[in-house]
Amino acid sequence: MCTWRSKFCPLGLIWCLVFLGACATTAQPPNLGDLKQVVLAYHKDGRYEKDIEYVINEAREYLKRYPAESDKPLSIVLDIDETSLTNWPVIKNENRNVSNDNDFGYIKIAGDKCDDYPEAWNCWIEKATALPIKPTRDLYLEAQELKKFTVFFISARLDYEGPATQRNLNGSGFSGTYCLILRPSGPTDERYKLPDSSVTAFKNPPGCTLPVSVDTAAKTAERCKLTDSTVAAFKTAERCKLTEQGWKIVANIGDQPSDLEGGYAERIFLLPNPFYRIR
Ligand SMILES: [Mg+2]
Repeated sequence: MCTWRSKFCPLGLIWCLVFLGACATTAQPPNLGDLKQVVLAYHKDGRYEKDIEYVINEAREYLKRYPAESDKPLSIVLDIDETSLTNWPVIKNENRNVSNDNDFGYIKIAGDKCDDYPEAWNCWIEKATALPIKPTRDLYLEAQELKKFTVFFISARLDYEGPATQRNLNGSGFSGTYCLILRPSGPTDERYKLPDSSVTAFKNPPGCTLPVSVDTAAKTAERCKLTDSTVAAFKTAERCKLTEQGWKIVANIGDQPSDLEGGYAERIFLLPNPFYRIR
């Protein structure tokens, strides 16, 4: 029996072969609205926290077993955002007073508008109220107790955000001595500075810098040059400098591949982050 399909499909097939481009289907990317629901559920039902714990436990076992005897001072590198501190309220815009709650947008705003846009990234940093990512904070405290590692936070936050970042780390339980390395700010960031935030420069304790000769410093500057303007290049260059100065980086822990690629660490640990990507 000749049906509509049997009669017309062969014709359709020929038509497709002739005009292949018109019939070929393209693979659509996943729907962004659906993905937002998926990541919300991943965060809400505890899988995100569990996955963080799994990776941190691996790092914990590794660090515990790491021999204290070394010809070089030992260090650990930690990222800050979504590694040590959680920015979840800002990531999902949960404090926003307008209708796009859960929109996962990134907002950066001029400093004098922070009352209206408390969820803007730069305003949030200045508030210094981000909660700790507890497994990382616990690992940090355990590393402090072991007394064999110096902890370096290397973050893409900007240098003028240093005092607020220190306030936030200290206030969320990252007690003890640590070193903070932040990205140098450029003139284009001036408009985002809060009126009172550029007054105090953050200072690291003396133990963060090892004595090096002028010759070594010059060689380090040459070997550890920035290769491009990405966060990955900045972080790689900073780990390169630490290594050239004499530190042995035994572990590097972050939530982005850009935290970890580029070498200069004996082991790397990648925490989950399906919420945003930093290159
Ligand atoms: Mg991060």
